[in-house]
Amino acid sequence: MKTITLKKGKAESLKRFHPWIFSGAILKADAEPAEGETVRVTDHEGRFMAVGHYERGSIAVRVLSFTPQDIDDDFWEKRLAEAFRLRQALGLVGEQDNEIFRLVHGEGDGLPGLVIDLYGHTAVMQAHSVGMHYCRKALAKALVRVTDGFVRNVYYKSETTLPYKAGIEPETGFLCGEHGDEVAAEYGLKFHIDWLRGQKTGFFVDQRENRRLLEHYAKGRRVLNMFCYTGGFSVYAMRGGAALVHSVDSSAKAMDLTRENIALNFPGDTRHEGFAEDAFRFLGHIRPDDTYDLIVLDPPAFAKHKDAVRNAIKGYTRLNAIAFEKIAPGGLLFTFSCSQAISKEQFRLAVFTAAAQSGRRVRILHQLHQPADHPINIYHPEGEYLKGLVLSVE
Ligand code: SAH
Repeated sequence: MKTITLKKGKAESLKRFHPWIFSGAILKADAEPAEGETVRVTDHEGRFMAVGHYERGSIAVRVLSFTPQDIDDDFWEKRLAEAFRLRQALGLVGEQDNEIFRLVHGEGDGLPGLVIDLYGHTAVMQAHSVGMHYCRKALAKALVRVTDGFVRNVYYKSETTLPYKAGIEPETGFLCGEHGDEVAAEYGLKFHIDWLRGQKTGFFVDQRENRRLLEHYAKGRRVLNMFCYTGGFSVYAMRGGAALVHSVDSSAKAMDLTRENIALNFPGDTRHEGFAEDAFRFLGHIRPDDTYDLIVLDPPAFAKHKDAVRNAIKGYTRLNAIAFEKIAPGGLLFTFSCSQAISKEQFRLAVFTAAAQSGRRVRILHQLHQPADHPINIYHPEGEYLKGLVLSVE
């Protein structure tokens, strides 16, 4: 195993178990590692610090272990078994009415660069690092073994997560099994899972609990679900007894997925209508007497990097300010940010600014976050990405 030596003073974050080593912290390597290779990391005096996957780029090493060990089949089995046990403890495994959950959440499960979502007995796996890509087959086999047959199919999808890296060709396809569950239940609602063409692993698993909260408030309300993607919030609003549900997404494909999911659960129900349109355009058209009683804003990450933060905050303010104008008195706003680079405080400040611009009386009813199957490694605060507020607007 090749050794990477850190500059003096650059091992401090590793002593606090932070799982990333930035390229600027590296003093030298005894031989240039290939991308995806497992390397040993020492401090400037040669003391062992960590083992991890090497990659060229700002994050040079993703740490797999802080104690010396081989990264082999046993290692993967142990980590995957731990991840599976946590989901069992959360009551997520083997439930009839809920078959969708996240089984591996990168750093949160001690497996940086790896995401695995479960849909019924099908796992959809994504590598965000070259190292995990090279280990994909071993990981898939280990997954089937440690879940005792609960996972039957493993579908691998790296085409969007590993672009232009290390000459890797986009790869999608089954590593185990040959076809997967195409419909899976989330709290008793059915969803078509389109992992072949869909974004991420096919579905936004992280909003499960927040969707259920929305259902609780939907009764009799006119609901607008902006950035609806597969229509998750819309389907829950329908079950919650909404008077009408409007779903909006700029992607025509997303609108098709939303309509399919509505039809799967509420065939022929005319309360739902979908609009393939830009969010700002749609909001701009709403007439003063066509307001909504409940609006969901769940946009894509406005800030993908730290340098985009200022503009992103402005974007959140602008979007929320328009929403405040379109909500009827006594209405609710479910507003989210999934930008990792934006903190809870920054997001709240953006929404505060929007509320102040509207001049309305606004109260925070709930502060929302990612669910427990998206755990946050306490040493890796960057893992806290989803934040939301439920606001009552007078
Ligand atoms: N709320 C969804 C996830 C939203 S993902 C869920 O619970 O599953 C963000 C969505 O925003 C994507 O589907 C994307 O197509 C859509 N989107 C991106 N930019 C947009 C824009 N300007 N107007 C409307 N939709 C947009």
